[in-house]
Amino acid sequence: MWIPRMLLVSLLATPIARASGLFAEATASRDFLGVLDEDADQKAEKAQKALEKAMRDAEQGRYQDAHRRYQRLARDFAETEAGQIAARRAQPSAFICATDVVRNGPSENRVDVVFMGEGYTVKHQKAWDKFAQDIPPYFERQKTLGEYYRYFNFIRANLISAEEGVDGYGRTYDTALNGAMRDTYAGHVGVDRKRVFEMLDELPSHDGQAIVFVKRGKLGTGGGGVATIGGQNTKIAIHEFGHSFGRLGDEYAQETHKRDGVGTAPNVSATEDPEEVPWKHWLNLRGANVDIYEGAGGQERGAFKPTATGCVMSSSEFFCRVCREHLVLRIYSHVDPIDSCSPADMPYEMREFLVMRESSMKIELTVLEPMDHKLEVQWWIVPEDKAPQPARPMSAAERARYGNRGSNIGPRSARGRLNNIPAEPHAKTFPGRGGLHVLNLRKSQLEPGRYRVIARAHDTTQMRGERFPWVLQDVDELLWSERAWWVEVP
Ligand SMILES: [Zn+2]
Repeated sequence: MWIPRMLLVSLLATPIARASGLFAEATASRDFLGVLDEDADQKAEKAQKALEKAMRDAEQGRYQDAHRRYQRLARDFAETEAGQIAARRAQPSAFICATDVVRNGPSENRVDVVFMGEGYTVKHQKAWDKFAQDIPPYFERQKTLGEYYRYFNFIRANLISAEEGVDGYGRTYDTALNGAMRDTYAGHVGVDRKRVFEMLDELPSHDGQAIVFVKRGKLGTGGGGVATIGGQNTKIAIHEFGHSFGRLGDEYAQETHKRDGVGTAPNVSATEDPEEVPWKHWLNLRGANVDIYEGAGGQERGAFKPTATGCVMSSSEFFCRVCREHLVLRIYSHVDPIDSCSPADMPYEMREFLVMRESSMKIELTVLEPMDHKLEVQWWIVPEDKAPQPARPMSAAERARYGNRGSNIGPRSARGRLNNIPAEPHAKTFPGRGGLHVLNLRKSQLEPGRYRVIARAHDTTQMRGERFPWVLQDVDELLWSERAWWVEVP
């Protein structure tokens, strides 16, 4: 089939023509197609470079320049992937960049918390940067979150809003996250969750956790991964983070707005039945001071809480035992107590063996480091035929057996409970710098044969001088982690 060149050009410009296979026989067109592809490649490469340049500008604090670069890129390279990213960032209210404020480890094994400023115009970005810098110390100083401070990364997103203001009293403003007054008596500020998640998706990865500070808003709201705070009140931030990350309820009784019944939470219950409250495992522990008190969830009657002595979820500085336990479990539902190991972990099904040719072999494990206590690490050496099966997810029936104590509270719950190891531990090791544990396997201590070497790390949550561990019940064994290797002694 012959096609006139001019026609070919116009056909090539449409994706339908490209996909039609119309040119399969048109040998004359092949070079032409090649040239066009090369052009497209060059264009994409140019656009990518321009995008990187804009991002560099943004990361170095030249937000206005970055915004203009995004606008040019969106105009000149609209058909490229980089051009499409730029088009989103070129909007009058848009995501400009994200920068680490505190990085404690790889995003894969930390809770990444992203700070967002709402209602900050391009002129106010420097002020936002300075403010964001000052937020992590509040987490560090809070007793529960501070103990696990190294389990978090804190990242600042720079969002520009075309206007500053919060929708309400019949006025709307063009802002990055559509901040608006909520229908509460005091006019708590809230933002558009969908917009927050669109902004989070601009990052290479995220854990669905954002803390939004609304420049012109007041008070705060929180839930489902998004904490929203009016102004710069970092004390409210910890409370809202208790909602948004911790999935905790309010422990105050004052009515702030009409609520549809009592939302159940680990720390708020619609029943006062001691067999039914979510914190029943804390009851009857002498000295724990956990009981069932009426007045929670923003209502005086019909809602119950575990403590009368205060909690961040009312207006105190400390989390109560029940909230603290749940927060620690939530952290471990994202973060594995083991950060890395060497040699690489060998799955149960993979029957390949590390053959011990030398007189000894080193196995290294790096665990996370809470502030004031250390994780325990134990090692087992089990003959191949006695090696425990790997953990598997709990079935619905097994979970039901745990009743309302069954947790399933985050991504790591899917692993399930670890299997019993039919042997005494071979060794317990103590950490060196950076949470590094080393097992020195000696050939002289082992009979020739094949073994499963297992390392388990555990956070006892037992703080020095405290009578009860922070976590009393860990249904999913989130506080445990293991790595294992197949070893052959010839
Ligand atoms: Zn509490």
